[in-house]
Amino acid sequence: MQFEIHRAGNGIGLWKTEGMKKPSLVIIKWQGRNPVVGTCSSCPQTRFSTEGKFGKPSEHERELRDLFNQHFRTVHMREDASQAAARIVKEATENH
Ligand SMILES: [Zn+2]
Repeated sequence: MQFEIHRAGNGIGLWKTEGMKKPSLVIIKWQGRNPVVGTCSSCPQTRFSTEGKFGKPSEHERELRDLFNQHFRTVHMREDASQAAARIVKEATENH
């Protein structure tokens, strides 16, 4: 019984640590005042580009944020969901 409580505590700690290093949009290339290429702080190989698409810095920024949000939803939210699903399956299996 004590072992079960200890294990649950570790799980909560891990969850908090992951939340603190939440991925964020990082601008890596500017064209004058326009942010044109961004990346994800957790995925350095990822590129979001608005080069040649718009005229105003605010439009580039909005598009880069949109692209990053899409990336975040498809890559990082899915990761969290599958990790949670794996944990639920594991716990269900252990209870049997
Ligand atoms: Zn990412």
